[in-house]
Amino acid sequence: MTIHPDLHIYDTLQKQTVPFEPLNPPHVGLYVCGPTVYGDAHLGHARTYVSFDIINRYLQHLGYKVRYVRNITDVGHLENDADEGEDKIGKKARLEQLEPMEVVQNYTNRFRKKMDELNILPPSIEPTATGHIIEQIELIQRIIDAGFAYENDGSVYFDVLKYNENHNYGKLSGRIIEELTNQTRSLDGQDSKRNPLDFALWKKASPAHIMRWNSPWSLGFPGWHVECSAMSSKYLGDYFDIHGGGMDLMFPHHECEIAQSKAGNGKDPAKYWLHVNMLTINGQKMGKSLGNFITLEELFTGTHKILEKAYHPMVVRFFILQAHYRSTLDFSNEALIAAEKGLKRMTDALETLGKLKTPSAAAQGNPENINLINNALQAAYKAMSNDFNTAMAIAQLQTLTTEINKLATSTSIDDMIDLSTFQALKEQYQLWFTNILGLQSTEQQSANNELTEHLMQMLITMRKEAKQNKDFALADKLRDELNKLNIVLKDTKDGTTWTYEAN
Ligand code: AMP
Ligand code: ZN
Repeated sequence: MTIHPDLHIYDTLQKQTVPFEPLNPPHVGLYVCGPTVYGDAHLGHARTYVSFDIINRYLQHLGYKVRYVRNITDVGHLENDADEGEDKIGKKARLEQLEPMEVVQNYTNRFRKKMDELNILPPSIEPTATGHIIEQIELIQRIIDAGFAYENDGSVYFDVLKYNENHNYGKLSGRIIEELTNQTRSLDGQDSKRNPLDFALWKKASPAHIMRWNSPWSLGFPGWHVECSAMSSKYLGDYFDIHGGGMDLMFPHHECEIAQSKAGNGKDPAKYWLHVNMLTINGQKMGKSLGNFITLEELFTGTHKILEKAYHPMVVRFFILQAHYRSTLDFSNEALIAAEKGLKRMTDALETLGKLKTPSAAAQGNPENINLINNALQAAYKAMSNDFNTAMAIAQLQTLTTEINKLATSTSIDDMIDLSTFQALKEQYQLWFTNILGLQSTEQQSANNELTEHLMQMLITMRKEAKQNKDFALADKLRDELNKLNIVLKDTKDGTTWTYEAN
């Protein structure tokens, strides 16, 4: 039994939940702004990327072919997200006396490892800003040619007021240009911008600025917003399905992206805009610049002073999924400990399901139980199809958990459930846990290793016995079949050992 009510998603542009109608089904283009790799990923990053992992997984579950692009920001993101100040990566490189690309490589590797530990599926394409300088220069040139940007002293700025004459700068974030103007400081005469609202597309590098490239305007570097416009259109086209990121990117980053694409490519970049709400700590956004962050490494090892203990990556994932991605979520040890219990209850239920006696084909079951199970399964899909509401879906799975525990303690399974509902429950509970929510049991990894070792020892003994019985054909077949799985057996005087040798 699979029920997929039509998917609806909340679109920030329309400020409402709308039916999801991809531009070119079954293909879906998804672009999510990636991390700026000058430090370790923290719980806030985990929230945004776990949320988009769920979106990616559910779209795939519904049969869509998702091209998921998540970039790596490795240049142009200046301190305080402003147009002045040091490049975040350049600064780290200066302080640690490293090449900027060493900083980038190190933190990219560490970021990927943490994403893996959280069981986040890798994106289809992971482009870097420094790998797309030419594309950025070309886009800037198109914006200049269209009359929406100007050069001054080697730097190029987007002309917000000019753009706003015929377009709406603020349509995504709801900002109003007059209010923005009142809020911004006036130009101090040092600035090469015409208007304080204008934002940098290209910056001339000061002598101290080490990350720099040739361009028609100066030896310099691209502004932060332009990388995502250039890379998303390169890999997903000028108009694609979904663009996302954390809520803090809505303004100015995404607002500027819309303006750049409209000015340079003549199109809005994306049909739907999705934003993940902030992960907070004591009610305040967790952020690198605020210094109130807990890195994922610290969380998984319990090495931050605020932590009462270490939390397994799957507990962190479950903690994130227990809230809808648009709600706020505040860090606390209590919430993580509750998540740990909730996850354990589900993994225990999965194990129980595996051990339950299958009802007979003639079993009638109890109509009340059967209804409860079928309704919960339907409601879980309904929740997920209503803007990926994992919180509501998990609540339904908790109802199913209770039902599974009831089955385990009943004296006669045939009196509780009929065969087809039982099979649907077994299949669906596993599918939700593993594929849709992307969860793993915290013990799964070690159990898998133990099981593999056990099975290998069985096969090694069988081969030994075959040789003793002079059944060399069977002994060779066992070795060859294992070879096909990249498992190599080595006969030594102390017995046979095995290694896994991936290509
Ligand atoms: P950054 O590395 O700061 O450029 O951020 C990378 C991504 O993580 C962006 O999509 C941010 O919106 C997101 N992000 C950063 N901090 C948080 C937070 N506290 N809660 C949720 N998402 C966050
Ligand atoms: Zn971006």
